[in-house]
Amino acid sequence: MLELKNIAKSYTTGNFTQKALDDVSLSFRQNEFVSILGPSGSGKTTLLNIIGGLDQYDSGDLLIDGQSTKDYSNRDWDTYRNYSIGFVFQSYNLIPHQSVLNNVILALKLGGLSKSEQKTKATKALEEVGLGDHIHKKPNQLSGGQMQRVAIARALVNDPEIILADEPTGALDSKTSTAIMDLLQQVAKDRLVIMVTHDPELAHNYSTRIVQLHDGVITADSDPYEIKQHLAGNPPKKQSGMSFLTALGLSFNNLWDKKARTLLTAFAGSIGIIGIALILALTNGVSQYITDVQEDTLASYPLTINSEEMDISSFVNMGESFSKEFEEEANKGFSDVRISTMGLEAEQQFNAGLQENDLKSFKSFLEKDNGIQEAIGKNGVNYTYPLKFKAFTEDEDNQWIDTDTVMDDDKQSNQFSFDFTNQDENGKYFNQLTSSSDAVISPMIKDTYDLVDGQWPSQANQVVLILLPDYSLLPEDAVSIGLMTKSEYDDLNSTIDSGDEVKGPRYSSDEVIGHKYYLYPEAMNYTKQSNQTFEREDELPNKDKIKSDGIELEISGIIAPKETDSAGPVRGPIAYTSDLTDEFKQVTNNSSVVKQQSENVDTNVLTGLPFEAKDDNEKAEQGKDYLENLTDTEKVMAYFKYVGDNEEANHTANDSANAMDLSMLQADDEEDDVKNSPLIGLFDEWVDNQASKDDFIQVYHDELADYNYEDNMKNFGAIHDDQPESIDIYTDSFDQKDQLSDAIERYNDEAKDGKEITYTDFVGLLTTSIASIINVIAYVLIGFVSISLIVSAIMIGIITYISVQERTKEIGVLRALGASKRNTTTMFVAENLLIGITSGAVGVGISYLVIFTANYVIHHVFNHPEISAYLGWKAVIALIVLATIITVIGGLYPARSAAKKDPVTALRTE
Ligand code: ADP
Ligand code: MG
Repeated sequence: MLELKNIAKSYTTGNFTQKALDDVSLSFRQNEFVSILGPSGSGKTTLLNIIGGLDQYDSGDLLIDGQSTKDYSNRDWDTYRNYSIGFVFQSYNLIPHQSVLNNVILALKLGGLSKSEQKTKATKALEEVGLGDHIHKKPNQLSGGQMQRVAIARALVNDPEIILADEPTGALDSKTSTAIMDLLQQVAKDRLVIMVTHDPELAHNYSTRIVQLHDGVITADSDPYEIKQHLAGNPPKKQSGMSFLTALGLSFNNLWDKKARTLLTAFAGSIGIIGIALILALTNGVSQYITDVQEDTLASYPLTINSEEMDISSFVNMGESFSKEFEEEANKGFSDVRISTMGLEAEQQFNAGLQENDLKSFKSFLEKDNGIQEAIGKNGVNYTYPLKFKAFTEDEDNQWIDTDTVMDDDKQSNQFSFDFTNQDENGKYFNQLTSSSDAVISPMIKDTYDLVDGQWPSQANQVVLILLPDYSLLPEDAVSIGLMTKSEYDDLNSTIDSGDEVKGPRYSSDEVIGHKYYLYPEAMNYTKQSNQTFEREDELPNKDKIKSDGIELEISGIIAPKETDSAGPVRGPIAYTSDLTDEFKQVTNNSSVVKQQSENVDTNVLTGLPFEAKDDNEKAEQGKDYLENLTDTEKVMAYFKYVGDNEEANHTANDSANAMDLSMLQADDEEDDVKNSPLIGLFDEWVDNQASKDDFIQVYHDELADYNYEDNMKNFGAIHDDQPESIDIYTDSFDQKDQLSDAIERYNDEAKDGKEITYTDFVGLLTTSIASIINVIAYVLIGFVSISLIVSAIMIGIITYISVQERTKEIGVLRALGASKRNTTTMFVAENLLIGITSGAVGVGISYLVIFTANYVIHHVFNHPEISAYLGWKAVIALIVLATIITVIGGLYPARSAAKKDPVTALRTE
């Protein structure tokens, strides 16, 4: 059944070639006990390895069941070793970290038996060699003879046809040797046993046939055998292989056996993971902190879009270029007298930078369901409507005060404001508290302001006094809102001028809370004339009328910004709620002028004429009508505009006033001069007799054509829900704010010419730098992270490599038992998988300890309780997976090198 034909095998080391086997031909019977006898180095082991398929012959052929093995694949050899061959070595070659039972089971694992079958079979094999009581011991707890019995049990467990024993008693004393030889003799009863020995006595005593080997050549054979008739057919090809679970179990035992070392390896491998975990935890903590700060910041700084917006950037650039020009010219030195045009240019650029925003279209865009909602924070959108009113109050001396004008002859309020565009000076000390989509007073307001006394407004007529963060008011504001009298203010100023020590007056909450104001809406200034048209009263109504007709307000509480370094989002000193806006809207829209205008959309209620003249006749008629109704002052001005290009007029003009002065004729004290002007007569004369129809049409176009319904309503102070004066959009994070900017950009891309929205992003100026710093930090951290990952991978590679070196012998044994190259790779991959999971777990565990400590230090030593490093469970899983992947990848190359190990060399390694 086994036949060697002219087998030759030689080893070449350097330029020396050693013929280990030289033309060996030998046949074996199915059942005999053959001893291969020969001195050391005669080629016995080589012969045995070739027979067992561990080593490959150079030339000749090995016939198994009459079948040539010349074309055997690796897999065929693995199967052959696993099922047909049982190896017994001089040095036992047991796997030290596996129990006796498992060492035997290992040979079965490569087959396809169930777990319980494997156990039963292995136990039976061990009982047969007399080790039934020792199956749970580790090999190093056994004597040499016992270990060799385990090896024999392992060789027998698969019930192979051939047992190959390489000096099985070489390491044993004579008594134990005898017992082992007895055992082998027993085994040889029903199979082929080929034993290598250099002990002739043993050979003679136990074997049935002795083959002498010398320098790779057979010198004697006591019972030669020649196969006459070859058996037909292929050897049974059963599958040989190790399942991944087997490899995992094997690895687990090995790692468990070396617990301390495994932990140390896992710890070393986990350093990278700890690094990442800590960076992650800190980044988490810091970004959470930044998010909080963002929310705080963005709560007070919404993106504000005003109906009229100044392009600040062009303004800033202009300032720079002017100061550069100034310096250049100054440095050139004098050559001649230069006229500077800077001021003129500045004015031109300022006007060019002023943009009208169509907030009506933009508001409807905001309210449409178009994705922009995602860019809006929890404080929502706040719409402010222009309230046209004048506000009055009484100071402590019962002096009746117009809040807008009481300080006019002194310096204006110093209150800092970005708002270049608020040209309406009426009601300037009254501003609306930001509302949100579902609250009259936005939660943001209650977040950013403390109620220091009284109540938040709960009704339309309640307002709050807003103090500066140091609970003070500017004196100008205090006078304007009637808290301090004008004379107290003047006294204060003269004290300061005299250099004496000054002390501002103080007011108790009682003096403030309950203070009353009277709003007089602009619409109330229009009264109906006998001709059914409306006219605006030049004079303000008296105190009693304002008190009875106006809207009465009362201070209900005092608030101040929580943060001392910011004035807060709402301009003071008095703030009302959106409830008042609603009431104001009611009052105004119910006023007779607004009512009549809204019922007569085509007719200008101020003139009784249609907004748009139908034809030239109507235009001329309206133009003439307009000129006839001008005041004297206006007539003089109109004269210069439409008539005064003749000599007579110029001459006459010089008599009364020059043209420059006339253009400024608004002040009352010059009115008398105008009354006497001969130009008025000339003008009337022109209108009545000289002006042509075309002149009147010209007047219509110049003066009347621009009037329209919307302008009138605006002038009356009527409020349209869809026409806010400004829009505040709140976001919760910088990301969201960017999203918002993108959305507005999208809107602008689609908007028709002139409908684009311009706005100044004050927070943007502040935050882009923060965002870029965070990005840079993130990149640096990612850099560190990747370095530590690479280090981890390399280290695991080295450790696996060492482990492979260390376990060379084990690899050899497994290969001898029939494990394939792939199986050995799998084993090391499985081992690295376990190490990876362990190092991930160790890393996460250590990280948690460090994070816990770090948080304590951050909170108690650095006093930053708002920053907490933390690691979420998703990160934990990700890190363990990462550690595992890195470890497996790091160990892949050495694991593959293990597979490439030649089993013979591996077995020879001690
Ligand atoms: P034995 O088992 O009879 O002592 P071996 O079969 O181990 O002898 O070795 C036979 C010869 O082949 C020896 O001279 C040995 O030095 C040589 N030899 C065996 N294996 C190798 C090898 N891997 N490389 C080089 N020479 C080897
Ligand atoms: Mg040998």
